Amino acid sequence: MKRFSGTTKAEATSGIRIGIAVLVFALGGIAACATNPVTGTPQLSLMSEQQELEAGTKLYPLYTQLSYGLFQDEALQDYVNSIGQRLAAVSHRPNLPYAFNVVNSSDLNAYALPGGKISITRGMVARMENEAQLAGVLGHEIGHVAALHHLATYTRQVFSGLLSAVGMAALQTAAVPAGGLIRQVGLLGVNLTLAKYSRDQEREADKLGMDYMARAGYNPAGFVQAMALLMDEMDRQPSLLESYFSSHPLTSERVADANQRLSLYGPELRTPEALREASFREATAYLRQVQPAYALMDQGKTAMKNGDSRQALQLFQEATVRAPREALIWVYRAAAEGEAGLEEQALQSAERAVSLYPDLFHGRYVAGVLAFESEDYTRSLTHLKAAERLIPGQPQVTFYQGRNFEAMGRREDAARAYYAVLKKVRKGPMAQYCYRRLVQWGYLRG
Ligand SMILES: [Zn+2]
Repeated sequence: MKRFSGTTKAEATSGIRIGIAVLVFALGGIAACATNPVTGTPQLSLMSEQQELEAGTKLYPLYTQLSYGLFQDEALQDYVNSIGQRLAAVSHRPNLPYAFNVVNSSDLNAYALPGGKISITRGMVARMENEAQLAGVLGHEIGHVAALHHLATYTRQVFSGLLSAVGMAALQTAAVPAGGLIRQVGLLGVNLTLAKYSRDQEREADKLGMDYMARAGYNPAGFVQAMALLMDEMDRQPSLLESYFSSHPLTSERVADANQRLSLYGPELRTPEALREASFREATAYLRQVQPAYALMDQGKTAMKNGDSRQALQLFQEATVRAPREALIWVYRAAAEGEAGLEEQALQSAERAVSLYPDLFHGRYVAGVLAFESEDYTRSLTHLKAAERLIPGQPQVTFYQGRNFEAMGRREDAARAYYAVLKKVRKGPMAQYCYRRLVQWGYLRG
């Protein structure tokens, strides 16, 4: 599936240019000169460091939610963060408030937000075999941050920070009743294209990442291994790598260059010990234990896409039996049960997801919809309010808040919600529903 199907490359590029123009405008036309920390030369900069930090602080929790939340293993999160911090400390921008996390997407991806906020997916960590491979991917992202690549390349969505495009995408296909809930959950984890780096930027980030690895005591061969893993997966499961490759073009030329660079580093680093396999295996033990359950979940999503909802439900159920502590799998199970008309069971599964991970948008949203379907309006509103806090401004959340108000006889609150939905969405069953009600109640003329 192509995210921007129908968009030509030229259109995409002009979209980025417009994005930057919008940003310059938003900043009052300030385009200051900053010194590039890597090259030491002056560079046109569209945002001050302060603005960069603010953008990162604001966007990090949102993008974490959009990537299906955190992988719920605190020890692993600490481990990944400590490796990232070690590399960041020896980078060209050691003083940023870096943060590193593992998000729960099955895709193979890693991305850097402004200000040194960096995420790697569960899918990518699961594919790795040692700490040096992980350090290689994190070091590469730090390289982009250190060399200020993002200042020119972040897409409009990142800068606007509004994420309204995400809500729109979800709503185009969302049906009014619980049907389509699975598709909505999937779409809410949209793979936003964060940046499109050039080949030269990729080459520079590769070099920087490997240097940082060496300074932190890692065998830089780990990075070459990570690239080889990605190339290998691209042949086997290209769809899982789409967002990574769209921002980090990977070519055999890059792999060859990185391979050649290895001889520049001292022999004391180029040892199997400096790949640090044992510590990595220990830290990822739980992830590797639940990964087969996530594979079942992903098969269930595919079955759902192919219209086989019965098989999908079976796969989700089996996945929750294998990994009963994984909230995201319970969310999919709940959505599938809801679509199968098993209302009571569905709500129980959704509540299970919420109790395992109260701050996961997808769990709160699905629980909110299912509680509404079960006519438990107070409970539904509690979940939807939490969902609104986790990813603000999603029109489908506002829509279900309105449906609850309407069912509770709070017509004015309902009208306000439906009006807010119509301000964001003009087409599709949800917009039609809101429009009809507002006309019916005399808030709009038909
Ligand atoms: Zn890159």
